Amino acid sequence: MRAPSEVTPLLQDGEIRGFSAVDGKPRPPTRVTPEAEVAEAVKRARAAQVGWEALGFDARVRLMKAATRRMLERRSEALALLLEEGGKFAEEAMFTEALGPLDYLKNWVPVVRGYLKPRKLPIPALAYPGKRAVTELLARGVVGVIAPWNYPLGTYFKPVFPALLCGNAVVMKPSEFAPRTGEWFKSVLAEFLPKDVIQTVHGDGSTGQALVRSGIDSLVFTGSVGTGKRVLQLAAEMMIPCSVELGGKDPAIVLADCNLPRTVAGIMNWGLHNTGQDCGSVERVYVVNEIADRFAERLASAASRLISASQHPAGRAVDVGPLNNPRQLAVVEEHVEDAVKRGAKLLTGGKRTGEGLFYQPTILDGCDHTMKVVNEETFGPVIPLIRVRDDAEAVRLANDSVYGLNASIWTEDLVKGERLARQLQAGTVFINNHALTGAMAFAPWTGVKQSGYGVANSVFSPHTYTRPRTIFIDKNRAPDPWWLPLDSVMGEVGERLAKAQLGQFTAAIKVPGLFKRRAKTILDFVKGN
Ligand code: NAD
Repeated sequence: MRAPSEVTPLLQDGEIRGFSAVDGKPRPPTRVTPEAEVAEAVKRARAAQVGWEALGFDARVRLMKAATRRMLERRSEALALLLEEGGKFAEEAMFTEALGPLDYLKNWVPVVRGYLKPRKLPIPALAYPGKRAVTELLARGVVGVIAPWNYPLGTYFKPVFPALLCGNAVVMKPSEFAPRTGEWFKSVLAEFLPKDVIQTVHGDGSTGQALVRSGIDSLVFTGSVGTGKRVLQLAAEMMIPCSVELGGKDPAIVLADCNLPRTVAGIMNWGLHNTGQDCGSVERVYVVNEIADRFAERLASAASRLISASQHPAGRAVDVGPLNNPRQLAVVEEHVEDAVKRGAKLLTGGKRTGEGLFYQPTILDGCDHTMKVVNEETFGPVIPLIRVRDDAEAVRLANDSVYGLNASIWTEDLVKGERLARQLQAGTVFINNHALTGAMAFAPWTGVKQSGYGVANSVFSPHTYTRPRTIFIDKNRAPDPWWLPLDSVMGEVGERLAKAQLGQFTAAIKVPGLFKRRAKTILDFVKGN
């Protein structure tokens, strides 16, 4: 039977009306923000931002720590929303999201503190006498954050925390599939932060577009490749910086010398946790022939014993929850059907279960690069296995993708693992683990190719939230020697500086004296002598 969410439009009469992915029950509606109100929100944010930045870094940290502490204290509310809007059961949602805000913020603080330190510029004294300069990093102003649904709460820790810490105001647009979790996150922050520093607007892609057009100063977009491209075009028209964190199709390479039980457990986890709805999920496994039979058999056996149900059975938790929404479930069904039609062998799974949007954990063997399940992001509880001759073939095929977020190699030979890691086209390559750095504020989270060039987390990300401003101070009482009017001494100075650069350092000895002559010439000229 089709779930109500599969036949009812999500947006109706100016409201978002979702359904629970677990049991199909309707969720409380959320009002869609009209376009004019989006621009108003940004205007209010701009006014509030000035005072927020002026508060200073330490005061901002204090307020944000208090707010994230409150989020943690109110974790039961977060868990209820994550179940309702994310279809996530507490045992998983606690570790992937609800437990995160305070810790994540604490990890951000030293990263941003270091980044915001003013930098003295290394101005060479010989060529530029009497000058010094310092570059400070200022908040950009109002940062827009457009979010996906797959981590309805955790998705904000990467962009919203550093944006606020840097002194920006933030206007966020949660996914239309998880509006109330976004609203909850905002409302807890808003209890502690000055009015209008953090705001939400709600709706689908039209509201997202309205936000990009609204006059924001910078944008962080997290979502699919197709939408990312549209958002980038609009951001280019608006001339605003835009960091794009897009989809993935992460490969894992399983070598014959891997620790088999741990590798099976690791790949099962990274392929199926969060129901596979993770940009850093293992979505392709290249397993060398030598170990392929044993690996496939153990993985399929373990995956078939995972619990995927709307209720906890006695003594166990639900391992694999429902897909978040019917759109994603349809993609999963299409990819599995396509793979089977093209000759893949279904080792386990391959069917919907229960009333909600559940789909059995699925392992496909004998997959190849003609199949959607290998080429396109599936974003569901499906692991396709591709058998390869050796590590060289595995690396070649792993790189044969338009995506490049993470990759992993599973081997006990760490030297070989590192060598192969350097051949993989990905933002992060793991050996004997996968995608773990996504929750670390100090580790860059980025990709190559269509996974997007945005960098989330780490000292490599805050340029999205700050702009450099340089203050240049000249205490030289003499005019600069290259100022007008020009004369033949300038020619001589130029020659001497060129020779000095080429290693004839003695040529520079006379330069200060020539500079003095030039200064006198210029001053005499302006005095009319
Ligand atoms: P999506 O692209 O459909 O939507 C993302 C957000 O963009 C939503 O809030 C949506 O309302 C909004 N949007 C849609 N059209 C828009 C438009 N034209 N202009 C402005 N905003 C618009 O993605 P999704 O289905 O919500 O999320 C899943 C995708 O996100 C997957 O591809 C996943 O890999 C990716 N993702 C990437 C990362 C990362 O860090 N790289 C993290 C999480 C999710």
